[in-house]
Amino acid sequence: MFIELTDILRCPAEHEENVLVLLPDGVLDRQVRGGHLGCMDCGTVYPVRDGVAEFGPAPPDILRSERLTGAAMAALLGLGGPGGYVVMVGGAGEGWEGFAAASEGVHILAVNPPAGIPAGRGVSLARGGRIPVKSRQLRGVVLGPGFASDAAWLAEAVRCLLPGLRVVGEGVTPSAPELEVLASADGVWVAQARRG
Ligand SMILES: [Zn+2]
Repeated sequence: MFIELTDILRCPAEHEENVLVLLPDGVLDRQVRGGHLGCMDCGTVYPVRDGVAEFGPAPPDILRSERLTGAAMAALLGLGGPGGYVVMVGGAGEGWEGFAAASEGVHILAVNPPAGIPAGRGVSLARGGRIPVKSRQLRGVVLGPGFASDAAWLAEAVRCLLPGLRVVGEGVTPSAPELEVLASADGVWVAQARRG
């Protein structure tokens, strides 16, 4: 887990979004390998193990993505410049490396990633039942298969996005008042979070 990521993380419990305090056990090259994230509000302490921030169990079956390559995610999110954070949920995380190559200087948080992605280098990893990020922080969200068709995860994507920025998903095209669908083809869609 990238150490600066701590600034945008939130406790997943239903209370006001506030600061999580990081107590690292091991930091190498700005990557937290182990330690704890403590919530100042409800007192819950979440472990960081092998570089993964553990906010809760991941859903049991993480479907692999058929279409969300790194290059496709970069093109569809249309970031145009370095900086900030993008979240990839579920199978979308598999394409992180290609995305990173196409989007230099954008940090990636993979939530509930498929097995086999090592934390570190250009990607932070977290597990849990929601996107563990404060509202209006992200430059883009990509929802992998399963998550893209789930209203709760769609709502999480919209909550975490900066207004006017995009969410990409693999699955059924959503119809939600807070999302304007820009394009949809071959089971992949891209939508813009309405400014509110
Ligand atoms: Zn809390």
